[in-house]
Amino acid sequence: MQHRLSTRPIFVGNDRTGVVQIGGGKPDSRGNASTPAPVSVQTMTAGYTHDIDRCVAEIHRMQAAGADIVRVAVPERKDTEALAEILNQTSVPIVADVHFHFKRALEAVEAGVHKIRLNPGNISDRDHVNAVIDACKGANGGKGIPIRIGVNEGSIIERKDKQKRAKELGAVFGDHKHGYLLAIMIAKLEEYLDIFYEREFFDVAISAKSMSAPIVIDAYTEIAARFDHPLHLGVTHAGPKETGCIRSVAALGTLLSNGIGDTIRISYASDPVHEVEDGLELLWSLDLRERKGAELIACPTCGRIQVDLFTLIQEVRDKLADEIIVPMKVAVMGCVVNGPGEAEGADVAVFAGNRRGIIYVQGERVANVPEGEILDRLLDECKAFQSRVESGEVKLGEKRVEIVPPDPVGELGSGWEKMAAERMRSGVTPLTIRES
Ligand code: SF4
Repeated sequence: MQHRLSTRPIFVGNDRTGVVQIGGGKPDSRGNASTPAPVSVQTMTAGYTHDIDRCVAEIHRMQAAGADIVRVAVPERKDTEALAEILNQTSVPIVADVHFHFKRALEAVEAGVHKIRLNPGNISDRDHVNAVIDACKGANGGKGIPIRIGVNEGSIIERKDKQKRAKELGAVFGDHKHGYLLAIMIAKLEEYLDIFYEREFFDVAISAKSMSAPIVIDAYTEIAARFDHPLHLGVTHAGPKETGCIRSVAALGTLLSNGIGDTIRISYASDPVHEVEDGLELLWSLDLRERKGAELIACPTCGRIQVDLFTLIQEVRDKLADEIIVPMKVAVMGCVVNGPGEAEGADVAVFAGNRRGIIYVQGERVANVPEGEILDRLLDECKAFQSRVESGEVKLGEKRVEIVPPDPVGELGSGWEKMAAERMRSGVTPLTIRES
């Protein structure tokens, strides 16, 4: 596990859902010592909360994908009215996202929600904010529930006071957008936190989102240095999965690599299940969470390829997701030229060539099969290896794959044959194919 900055932990959930700790390393708000919790993965439902059946179905899909916490929007009374039944039918901690009306927060707390997300700047009456804080403090049988304070680039500029708005917009869109936005974000957070501290409420998480990866990196880096509340990382309005993934990984990967961040939400204009899958993959890739299931290593293919590797990789990926639960490394390589080196460290590996595949299990060669049998044989070997891991007979990553590759022009053939055939077809002088 990598170094993580210490924060005061908060706790989300109850005995029924299980309690997710966010942050840690410093004493919690009751003075109890803590150790850092694994970085958790959150997502948010895309459908209407008042549509109970659909909302519950969506939450179940998210939980099955690995979400630790799920957030739902409660813009209207009919949404908070649905919460009790949603909580009754689900078993993952639920956060109610309250935007403008403090009564939605009070209703959500009353319904038994496990955490509130609030932007105090959107609730103009201080007494109303105080009422929400007091309700959260007394909730959960007196143990309290936490609140996330979020500041977003899109909503941080003053909207009601026209003079102030003009001044702030002028500064933001002037020459110093980046620095000025950061200054506003920090100032707003300090202002909001004071409201909570005045009421001796400390179970707070913080987010400061932007659609710009550099601003997200700078904002959270600054906040981590100033406050010890756990940080909820995210890039807001990141776009569809295809591009949002890059934007999110650029920002969140940088922060997490520097030990910053206690819980993450990757947000896409796509099915939220992808947010969970990609969030987990990011944490696994950074060794911040223990991987569940197989890790697939695959080559990008090149001119040496002699099997339909893209199809094979997709099939292997789907089968591994269904059948393998131990975090073994499985390598699928297109040829024996670079494959062995690229697959070093894999527990199970296949190297393809000339419509065949040679399969290795922790360095031991176990099969040489035709292309049509690679998928089934590889999966059989993975399942057998999984059983041996579970029985304690072998350990994951125990042996590196130390393979003396077959002669490239030997039993598997290689790009030489392919290239020679291509040259023959195109009328170029054929290559001399070496005898094995
Ligand atoms: S393993 Fe072989 S086919 Fe795959 S990218 Fe490397 S050299 Fe190309």
